[in-house]
Amino acid sequence: MTTTHDKLPVIIVGGGIGGVATALALGRLGLPVQLLEQADQIGAIGYGVQIGPNVMPALERLGVGEAVRQAAYLPEEILLYEMDSGRKLVDIPLRTQQFKARYQGAPYVAIHRVDLHELLLHACRAYPNIDLNQSTQVVEYRNTADGCGVATADGRFIEGAAVIGADGLRSRLRLQLHPGDAPRDTGYLAHRTIVPMAEAPASIRKRQGVTMWTGPGFHVIYYPLRGGSEMNIVVVVRVPPDLDVTDNERYLEHIATLTRRAAPEARDVVQLVNLERRWSIADREPVRRWADGCFTLMGDAAHATLQSLAQGAGMAVEDADTLALLVQTCDNDFAAAFKRFERMRFLRTARVQLESRDLWEIYHCDGTRAEVRSQHFEEKTPEDIYRCLDWLWQSSVAHN
Ligand SMILES: Cc1cc2nc3c(=O)[nH]c(=O)nc-3n(C[C@H](O)[C@H](O)[C@H](O)COP(=O)(O)OP(=O)(O)OC[C@H]3O[C@@H](n4cnc5c(N)ncnc54)[C@H](O)[C@@H]3O)c2cc1C
Repeated sequence: MTTTHDKLPVIIVGGGIGGVATALALGRLGLPVQLLEQADQIGAIGYGVQIGPNVMPALERLGVGEAVRQAAYLPEEILLYEMDSGRKLVDIPLRTQQFKARYQGAPYVAIHRVDLHELLLHACRAYPNIDLNQSTQVVEYRNTADGCGVATADGRFIEGAAVIGADGLRSRLRLQLHPGDAPRDTGYLAHRTIVPMAEAPASIRKRQGVTMWTGPGFHVIYYPLRGGSEMNIVVVVRVPPDLDVTDNERYLEHIATLTRRAAPEARDVVQLVNLERRWSIADREPVRRWADGCFTLMGDAAHATLQSLAQGAGMAVEDADTLALLVQTCDNDFAAAFKRFERMRFLRTARVQLESRDLWEIYHCDGTRAEVRSQHFEEKTPEDIYRCLDWLWQSSVAHN
């Protein structure tokens, strides 16, 4: 028997990687899905993203594994250097037999966000039961007798069987569930740039992996994209509390001071970056409660993390995969599925959030602490590092 609840859509609020992946995961189950995005286009900001081997099984189950492999760059290794001395601290091979065997053949990839987002959207468009809407801002969710719906900024109420809040770091729906809860600002700014590889200096062009330079209050990370034709660069800067970042001249002086003693390659990279485009870096405190009846948070709205482990988008894709699995297991009882979802995902995502914070401190520390950090890193073999990351890179949550 078909009930009203069966006919109502699952409403997904937010069309980022998390929201679109969830629309695809639920659409593939045959459920009616309505995705609501506030921007006038469902799209991604045009920079790179690293995707760990733990995420590939979920992408395969979403039916986009092969397309991701085709569009992605496979970095040779992850290299970490000390900014001023130029000492290599860490070398994690990513393409060896040892890596493949350890992570069941799943690759570590770097992909342009626009490519990842576009191929997820393309996959969604093959399902007539997935309805993608832009220019629709949601202001609140409301549990109803038949499920859960949303109120929109233009005064409508859209009824659904369930609502999934994928509205990102500054989630309005999280604020409704946890009044007073706010993003935790780190006091750091990120600058992102993509440069054509042909225009990069030779020292940078030769890099075939993820290269990172770490220094007090500062780090730089870069990796090739799109068959090595582009280099994605991120520069992260701690802003002293007394520095007014709108004073461009003083801000640039601050960066010049931070990089004065940096190794030439790191300085060359900073020269390539558009320092006027800025993102303030923030994360969230882990909270155990994401679900409320037929409503749940997911992705950054549930567990935004610093990018030190490069896993925010990865966790959102794992969430999408897990949600679909649980909705199916619970026979479309969304309230039951969402309760299980937060129980199943909380500790893993909280560990990503908290270990990312620890790494953030380790990357940006100074003085004796930095010396100890560097000695500690240098002692580690690739095997030691794999063992530290196995909890993250090996386990795909849907199998837990
Ligand atoms: C510098 C940097 C580097 C990063 N590198 C990596 C990396 O290498 N690997 C990795 O896995 N992750 C990385 N991340 C993290 C990753 O970008 C995020 O974790 C991921 O994009 C979160 O996806 P999401 O869909 O949950 O949220 P978002 O991408 O923020 O999407 C939320 C969407 O919801 C929409 N929205 C918001 N409010 C409303 C509303 N009220 N109504 C309707 N729509 C709404 C927004 O417009 C947006 O489209 C990085 C982050 C940064 C800042």
